Amino acid sequence: MLNDIQEVLYDAEQIQQKVKELGEQLSRDFNDRNPLVICILKGAFIFMADLVKNMDIPLELDFMAISSYGASTKSSGVVKIIKDLDTPVEGRDVLIVEDIIDSGLTLSYLIDVLERRNAKSVTVATLFDKPAGRTVDLEADYTGFTLPDAFVVGYGLDYAERYRNLPLIGILKPEVYSK
Ligand code: 5GP
Ligand code: MG
Ligand code: MG
Repeated sequence: MLNDIQEVLYDAEQIQQKVKELGEQLSRDFNDRNPLVICILKGAFIFMADLVKNMDIPLELDFMAISSYGASTKSSGVVKIIKDLDTPVEGRDVLIVEDIIDSGLTLSYLIDVLERRNAKSVTVATLFDKPAGRTVDLEADYTGFTLPDAFVVGYGLDYAERYRNLPLIGILKPEVYSK
């Protein structure tokens, strides 16, 4: 699997250190707010798990799946809810945990949905950001790493459902997805 990686951008240790810092920061900022922490499936599942282990405050978890790239490496611009939340968000401080922001389309749609459901506040934490890909005006409140405009895999992020289990984030060799 590691054979398919052209370049490692951040290794497992660097990611763990950053996630710990984010968790500690979020614990301070969400102390006494009992946030509803929402994992955007599937990409954010590892980040979510590691993040909340570093949050020493009362919180609740829920999961939501929205459409992303499928087996392609480009955003389709079409966003739809595949699995909705089990928990009402009305009056809640909501913390969206996302793997990566590229165009920003997915998140801007999601923020809109949560605001229309009368969340008390909507905050976004993303582990990775690719600002060069942005087509809508959107910035995360908490960002782990800013990445170059390349297709990356690992630490939850897939190509055609593979590579999610890599503990690092890296750039896939172009020949892997141009096949
Ligand atoms: P956006 O709507 O901001 O363009 O991106 C939506 C989703 O596409 C992200 O949450 C993520 O799941 C996926 N995505 C964006 N960039 C990458 C990337 O470089 N690699 C992978 N594997 N997924 C990406
Ligand atoms: Mg995602
Ligand atoms: Mg994907």
